[in-house]
Amino acid sequence: MSFAENLAAAQARIRRYADHAGVPTPKPEIIAVSKRQPGERIDEALTAGHRLFGENRVEEAEERWTDRRKQFPDVRLHMIGSLQSRKCAAAVRLFDVIESVDRISLADKLKRAMDAEGRDLPIYIQVNTGDEPQKGGVALDGLGALVDHCQRVGLSVEGLMVLPPQDDDPALHFALLKKLAARHGLPRLSMGMSGDYEIAAAMGASQVRIGTALFGNRPD
Ligand SMILES: *Cc1c(COP(=O)(O)O)cnc(C)c1O
Repeated sequence: MSFAENLAAAQARIRRYADHAGVPTPKPEIIAVSKRQPGERIDEALTAGHRLFGENRVEEAEERWTDRRKQFPDVRLHMIGSLQSRKCAAAVRLFDVIESVDRISLADKLKRAMDAEGRDLPIYIQVNTGDEPQKGGVALDGLGALVDHCQRVGLSVEGLMVLPPQDDDPALHFALLKKLAARHGLPRLSMGMSGDYEIAAAMGASQVRIGTALFGNRPD
């Protein structure tokens, strides 16, 4: 299947689920997660007119997107992977949105990098709703302090992001994320991937992050 066909299928599925659930328009945006995909698949997506992408590693994203961004200035890139503090400057130069803020020290480094680069990027706070030690995201009991801190230092916190545990029902985590966002007055929800984006759409996601269902399997 071509990228365009996969995208149309995902859009139709999102529309069906969101409409059925009575989710008010607009429907969630589709972030095409291009991590580890071959360059020609990315070029195919660009040719098909898609402009919103997600990557999870700074160096890899720099390699594949620096030139393509010059060619396609309307591309928007979201950082969706865990971010090391020492890569903040590079991340702020390349990305348009950072979705994986999960600690105060990282928020501070990002803010400093944004000031230095003269860029004011929206951020999302990633929440570790499954309390998984190996996974990024702030623990539930640290979320309030992190949101407050980010807002106090002048970061634009747009919403929350979640990556649910693989062996749990994602709907539980989407529901929790929605409740937490409402509690903190944050308007946007980044939730849903290839296996569960339609559920996320039905539950009010603002954006879904879809990789393999658009591009095909990632090569090892
Ligand atoms: C890889 C990744 C995705 C996309 O995963 P697929 O299952 O390929 O759709 C979404 N979000 C994050 C944070 C990821 O790392």
